Amino acid sequence: MIIRSSEFIISAVGPKQYPEGNQPEIALAGRSNVGKSSLINRLINRKNLARTSAKPGKTQTLNFYHINQAFYFVDLPGYGFARVPKSIKDQWAKFIEQYLSKRDQLKVVIQLVDLRHPPSNEDIHMFEWLGHFGIPRIVVTTKADKISRGQWPKHQKIIREALRVPKDVPMVLFSSETGQGKEELWSLLEPYLRV
Ligand code: GDP
Repeated sequence: MIIRSSEFIISAVGPKQYPEGNQPEIALAGRSNVGKSSLINRLINRKNLARTSAKPGKTQTLNFYHINQAFYFVDLPGYGFARVPKSIKDQWAKFIEQYLSKRDQLKVVIQLVDLRHPPSNEDIHMFEWLGHFGIPRIVVTTKADKISRGQWPKHQKIIREALRVPKDVPMVLFSSETGQGKEELWSLLEPYLRV
């Protein structure tokens, strides 16, 4: 993918703020701090367009990034931030679910999990939920640079089994640090971007 332009559009707090038009959207789901912003930045060759933050749970909005004036990345609010009260968590969940289940422009969801750790219950729940709604999924196991190459298959297997990833759902080993997996991920995304 050749990136000609990338632009932050809006941190939406409600559907009225979503961009108009029919351009395809690729959403990113995963726990806070898993590396969603870093993955966007790496895919589009920008150091800091999507704001990465060491502080988990900051992103409580849907952040839209317009790429090549042709499609959007949508960074979903990170789930699994323990210090947030349940009422607020429920509110987020509703907000995310509404977007995921109702948005026609949404073509595929990239679900990120940390390659180092077994998926959380929230990861498992989200993955199942997306499948239930028939939303195309790509699993990205990220932060691969943080463990040795020899350990990768073992960790991938643990994640594949815990999430019960079906054979037709791709899993991509990724590192925002080294750029590993970038071309493979783009080649999986491109079919969804053809109008
Ligand atoms: P988000 O909350 O999901 O958007 O996560 P961020 O993209 O802000 O990343 C959280 C932290 O993990 C930051 O300190 C990143 O630098 C770090 N990080 C993200 N991806 C990677 C990766 O692939 N490798 C390494 N080593 N660090 C990463």
